[in-house]
Amino acid sequence: MKYYLFVIISVFLVSSCTKSSTGRSQVALYSSNELNKMGVASFEEMKKSIPISKDVATNNFVQCVANAITKNVSKTAHQGEWEVVVFDSAQVNAFALPGGKIGVYTGILNVTENQDQLGAIIGHEVGHVIEQHSNERLSAGQLSNMGLAIAAIALGTQEKDNRMLWMAGLGLGLQYGVLMPYSRSHESEADIVGQDLMARSGFNPKGSVKLWQNMAKLNKNSPPEFLSTHPSNKTRIKQLNTHLTFSMPLYLTEKKKGGTPNCIKPKVIPKPPEQKK
Ligand SMILES: [Zn+2]
Repeated sequence: MKYYLFVIISVFLVSSCTKSSTGRSQVALYSSNELNKMGVASFEEMKKSIPISKDVATNNFVQCVANAITKNVSKTAHQGEWEVVVFDSAQVNAFALPGGKIGVYTGILNVTENQDQLGAIIGHEVGHVIEQHSNERLSAGQLSNMGLAIAAIALGTQEKDNRMLWMAGLGLGLQYGVLMPYSRSHESEADIVGQDLMARSGFNPKGSVKLWQNMAKLNKNSPPEFLSTHPSNKTRIKQLNTHLTFSMPLYLTEKKKGGTPNCIKPKVIPKPPEQKK
């Protein structure tokens, strides 16, 4: 019996091995349809539980940056429209989910000084989606919990434990007390893919270096939520700096074509309402 199980799992794994755009081997057990369902369901839950910003200038700024980025994302990563929501929360946080969903908290807009730095955040988050990192994270979790989450999706149930597992895999665990930081290899890949994407979208990739320098400064006083799922390390800024030799020409080409967005950050981002802890 054990032998058969071993063969079944092995065949399943071999058939699920793919390569990321930077050449890493990936074990991705879920179909994109399953991943999209998880992303969409999680996003709907967040929209119900976190206040949404109605400030027009703030929404325009975030939409403008996100639109510029998402129009350059390959259809293989997501078909159809992307939905962008600005959450009215002091958390320094942002995320992107399979199924074309992007969430930006007003708190992170106090760290991002301009469109280039917000472009760096959204580029990085969308980079995680393009490279199917949540698929890998859920697949790794699943190896020790075989079949649990797949069964839940197949049955269409939204059982609480499974939902927590998805949310953690999708990078939203902090909200629900299950923290699962991205690994160093995922972070490094999202940095590179994100920097190229922002540059091709007309944002100055130097903004990504400045952004992470700002994050590091913030970390000294009180670590922002964003850093708990996207741990910073000494090599990150160095790698982003080195990769500029590749991404700057992409940006300059776009700039020459007149493809630089003009997203204006509002002078004042309204403070979010007091929230229950
Ligand atoms: Zn990340």
